[in-house]
Amino acid sequence: MSCIHSAVTNPGFQTEEYLAQYDMKNEYTQAQGMIDKENGIYYFCPLGSVYVYYYDEETDTQGKLCAKPECTHEDASCNAYLGVSNIGIQIYDHSLYWIQGGSLYRMDLNGENHEEVRTIDVLYGVDPLFAVHRGFLYTFVLQNEVQQGDSEMTLWIRRYSLDDAEQAGQTLYQEEQGSLASYRYHMYGNSLYFLCNQAMDDTYTEYEATLYVYDTEADQCEVLWSENQLLWDMGADFKKDKGTIQIMGAGGYRTIPFFQIYILGDSGEVQKEGPFYLGEAYAGRGSRFYFTRDYIIQSKPDAGGEGLRYCVRDDQGEIVMEGECAQEYGAEIDYWLQEGQDVIMEQNITHSLDDNQLMHAYQITRISEYGSQQELLRVEE
Ligand SMILES: [Zn+2]
Repeated sequence: MSCIHSAVTNPGFQTEEYLAQYDMKNEYTQAQGMIDKENGIYYFCPLGSVYVYYYDEETDTQGKLCAKPECTHEDASCNAYLGVSNIGIQIYDHSLYWIQGGSLYRMDLNGENHEEVRTIDVLYGVDPLFAVHRGFLYTFVLQNEVQQGDSEMTLWIRRYSLDDAEQAGQTLYQEEQGSLASYRYHMYGNSLYFLCNQAMDDTYTEYEATLYVYDTEADQCEVLWSENQLLWDMGADFKKDKGTIQIMGAGGYRTIPFFQIYILGDSGEVQKEGPFYLGEAYAGRGSRFYFTRDYIIQSKPDAGGEGLRYCVRDDQGEIVMEGECAQEYGAEIDYWLQEGQDVIMEQNITHSLDDNQLMHAYQITRISEYGSQQELLRVEE
C-alpha cells in the first residue's frame, strides 16, 4: 500500500476522541444512508427515492426538505431533489452530503445552496454506501463478477479528499468475497473498521467472518479477527466500546434463531459468548435481526401479515421490551435503529390500489419502553 500523503489534513483530526462535527455517527450506518439526524431534525432519503425528507421533533412537522416559495416540490428544481441514482445521505460539518452518479454533492441543512464537491468513480455494483469522515469521502461497493460459472463478489473501498478535489481517489481495499457477501463498516477516530461475512459455498450453510482495520494515518490494513462461522445467515455487525470490540453474528433463519458474540480485548485476546438461543417465534420468512449499540432487535410479521412481533434484548439475550404492533398490508422492515432507550423502525410498504396503480410508502415509527408508538414520518411516493 502506497503512502503518498497523510490522510490527516486538519491538525484537529489527530485525536481518537469522537468529534461530533466531523465523525460519522456509527449508530446510523445500519440504515445504509437512509437516515441521519442533527439538532432534533431527522433527514430521511428512502432507498430509490429522488427526494430528501425531514421530520422536526420540536415542531412535529415533516415534508420534503424545501422552503422555496411557490415550489411544487415535484421536479428537479425542488431543493429536496437529489437525483435519480443517489445512494442516500449523510450529515457532515453542518451540511447534507449525497452521491449522484460520478459526483459528491452537498447542501445546507435547510435544503439551500446545492453544490458539487468533487467527482468520484461511479459506484457500479451491489450495496453501494458512503461515509464522509474527517476530511475524506469513503465509498464502498460490492461488484459481481461471474468467473467460470461462479458468481464472485469483490468489495471495493475507495477514498477521496474533500479539500483537494483534483486529487484522484485512492483504492484502500479490493478483494474477492466469495459467492455471497455482506459487509458492515464503522469509523472510529482515524480508523476504518469493516467486517465481511461471506458464504463458503453455494449451500449457504457455512460462513466466514473477517474483521479488518484500516489505519487512515499510516495507510495500513490488517486483519483483526477471522473465524469460520457455521450459519451466520442472518448477518453480522460489530461495535467498539471502551477499548474492546464486540463482533456479533446471528443465525437460524430456517431453524432456531441465535446470536453469538466475540469480544476482542486490547491485547488481542478473544472471548466468546453464546450462542444465545432465542426460540422459534422469530425464525423464517420476514424475520429481521439487528444489532444496535446496546440492543439486539428481532422482528417478524405474523402469519396474516397484519401484525408485527418485535423483541428487544440486551447482549446477554435478556428481554428489554417485547410487543406487537399493527402492520399495514405489504409492509416490510428495512432496518431497526436504537435511539437512547427507544427503538426506531423503518418500514417500506407496497400495495396495489383499486386502479392497479402501485402505492409505495415509507414510515418511520418510534417505539418506547412499555410499547408506546409514535409515527415520526410517513412518505408516500
Ligand atoms: Zn420544493
